[in-house]
Amino acid sequence: MGEGSKKKRIALLGSTGSIGRQALDVVRQNSDKFEIEVLTAYSNDELLLEQALEFKPNTVVIVDESKYENLSERLWKEGIKTYTGESSLEDVVRMEDVDLVLTALVGYSGLKPTIAAIEAKKAIALANKETLVVAGDLITDLANKNRVPLLPVDSEHSAIFQCLAGEFHNKIEKIYLTASGGPFRGWTTEQLAQVTKEKALKHPNWEMGAKITIDSATLMNKGLEVIEAKWLFQLESSQIDTIVHPQSIIHSIVQFDDGSMKAQMGLPDMKLPIQYAMAYPTRIKSDFPRFNFMDYPQLTFEKADIETFKNLGLAYQALDLGGTAACALNAANEITNAAFLQDKIKFLQIAEINERVMNTASFVKKPSLEDYVSCNSEARRLAVELL
Ligand code: NDP
Ligand code: MG
Repeated sequence: MGEGSKKKRIALLGSTGSIGRQALDVVRQNSDKFEIEVLTAYSNDELLLEQALEFKPNTVVIVDESKYENLSERLWKEGIKTYTGESSLEDVVRMEDVDLVLTALVGYSGLKPTIAAIEAKKAIALANKETLVVAGDLITDLANKNRVPLLPVDSEHSAIFQCLAGEFHNKIEKIYLTASGGPFRGWTTEQLAQVTKEKALKHPNWEMGAKITIDSATLMNKGLEVIEAKWLFQLESSQIDTIVHPQSIIHSIVQFDDGSMKAQMGLPDMKLPIQYAMAYPTRIKSDFPRFNFMDYPQLTFEKADIETFKNLGLAYQALDLGGTAACALNAANEITNAAFLQDKIKFLQIAEINERVMNTASFVKKPSLEDYVSCNSEARRLAVELL
């Protein structure tokens, strides 16, 4: 971004989602610091229109072509350009007037726009963890080469990132990613066999989009976060531990090689990590509710049950396999997650199918972007066949 008092100009990919809407709250509260240059959605044209009228971006993208005509006509009158189609996302992140791209879209769809943004040397505030799960080595190499920061939005990774401020020369022994355990913490396999999507969609501590809420219930989310952490902080899988902490107050912990541990804590509110990434390296004063120790006289910890919640174990396997394994796991999970939401499969089948796909998809040890793209398609096809 420019010097002095210039506002940071943001392209917000996925503005109609849970992270996107909260990011706009942060902008609304800090209109002296941020300006919205680009807004994008998949198909929610009504909310996108409302957001565009309020934030007056230069450009919007509605990926779903059937929604394009109405929206573009409406926004043309306001002097706002409208584009459609998936590849438009790659074009708009390159625009000169963009300083920071916040990737708040869901799943594999974040990969190519993120690559385009890094190549155009835009700072990345990364909520879309799937991008790093699919192609973490490629993305982190590209970011290094282009000297582009990848600023984590995911609360656990933001916590680690905050703990590492001023510690860049110090060795990390290990990190602990905290997990709420989701709505089925402590449940047995027999109980999980009967789970409905309505129950899985009720997360105890966070209000999130449907996909990540199901991923949290199966512990796939924590698995994706283990992989995300490997790439963001350049760790071995043996250095990444997970610990269930049902109150979600401690957002994650770094242990340095002198044995000292640093944790970042606060009430669970995604606006804080979103704002931290957007304003980095500065902290902005906020009126978010403050933590009160007397409301939480006990913070508790337990071991994650990876025997019952197999997806977390699969993520560690994917890391040890390397290559395209995590890409295949992610693709399978996007299919099984959506199938569970459509009542096509049962809860336990999510991990079963994920495992079969990860073990049968073609494997490339040192993949190129094309290899990732074809691995993603193949794994999706395999998962669909297994539904
Ligand atoms: P939502 O489902 O709430 O929102 C997703 C956004 O992406 C919407 O704007 C949606 O548009 C758009 N979108 C969906 N599919 C596509 C596609 N194929 N191409 C382009 N755009 C698309 O998701 P969340 O906000 O919950 O999550 C976003 C990302 O942030 C995920 O990767 C998630 O893992 C991560 N994250 C989320 C957290 C949370 O608290 N929600 C916490 C930590 C990480 P439309 O509305 O039109 O469908
Ligand atoms: Mg998280």
